[in-house]
Amino acid sequence: MSGGDNLDFEIRPNPAPVAAAERDALLVNPGFGRIFTDHMATVRYADGKGWYDARVEARAPISVDPASAVLHYAQEIFEGLKAYKMADGGVAMFRPDANAARFAQSAQRMAMPQLSEGTFLQSLREMIRIDQEWIPQSEEGSLYLRPFAYASEVFLGVRPALEYLYLVIASPVGAYFSGGVKPVSVWVSPDFTRAAPGGTGAAKCGGNYAAGLSAQAEAIENGCDQVVYLDAVQRKYVDELGGMNVVFVLDDGSLATPPLTGTILPGITRDSVLKLAQRAGRKVAERPVSIDEWRDGAASGRIREAFACGTAAVITPIGVVKSPDFEFTVADGGPGSVTMGLRKELVDIQRGRAADPFSWVH
Ligand code: PMP
Repeated sequence: MSGGDNLDFEIRPNPAPVAAAERDALLVNPGFGRIFTDHMATVRYADGKGWYDARVEARAPISVDPASAVLHYAQEIFEGLKAYKMADGGVAMFRPDANAARFAQSAQRMAMPQLSEGTFLQSLREMIRIDQEWIPQSEEGSLYLRPFAYASEVFLGVRPALEYLYLVIASPVGAYFSGGVKPVSVWVSPDFTRAAPGGTGAAKCGGNYAAGLSAQAEAIENGCDQVVYLDAVQRKYVDELGGMNVVFVLDDGSLATPPLTGTILPGITRDSVLKLAQRAGRKVAERPVSIDEWRDGAASGRIREAFACGTAAVITPIGVVKSPDFEFTVADGGPGSVTMGLRKELVDIQRGRAADPFSWVH
């Protein structure tokens, strides 16, 4: 099930796009994931034929047969990344090749055919080109790109499907934090875990997120913004949040973050933060951090800051940690200076305001 050749996209412009005035009004306060652009990219896959029929066309509902495999066995994967207006007026994506690589890894884990990196990147470029007027001009705004693929074969047997559909949709999004970066509170779920060794934790598949919804609801009921998952075996070590990785700042200025052992998503923001910190001479340890170490370290001052990182919010300080048994605050509960420094460094690279030492901006 190889990636095969890079496909050319047939472009069929939407004959009835949203009027410019209406679109610009929508872009004033787009929120997250509610507004969509005029187009979508699609590529089909059939066993024996490979990927074929790549196009960009008017965004429209897709018809799904009730016996489509995805509706029954959840063979589905996705990605998420942003396109930005740069300081020089151009448009850029941040490390889309890393999203392509992770998409291919997710496909492998879910027994799906891999799309070539070239076709993946081309689908994003074509979407940005045709829908560039939908990229918010605001400092914090961006166009969120959502590539995904699902088993479209009409068959109820339990085996890898023989037909798939790959799509890209795009959604303008506003500032994640209106009114400045605000620390989040996290809930240590006593009941739910996210991923077990050998499971699908490192894949970006829809099922992981469905399985996290009860835990997220529990967090909200307990007055927290997000869930922090512990490892499924010992219920002791911090894995990650529902949609973000976790990084700790120690009193010697070093960083510690849970290792990629297959139960957490290998975040591209996580990787970028670690590389920037290392480059600046900070020590970085990818090692298990227990919830006890976090609680004791927050009390003793050994752990000075903690933050969550991911595409949506870039870097978010973690203020309060709550469980049925305890509650503690990381430092004074406000955004820490190392956290905010790394955030600025990363955002400045993404927006073209700072040098790009790793050639991350495409
Ligand atoms: N963990 C999970 C479970 C996620 O959904 C995400 C968002 N993709 C992340 C971590 C962060 O990954 P990235 O930095 O690539 O957005």
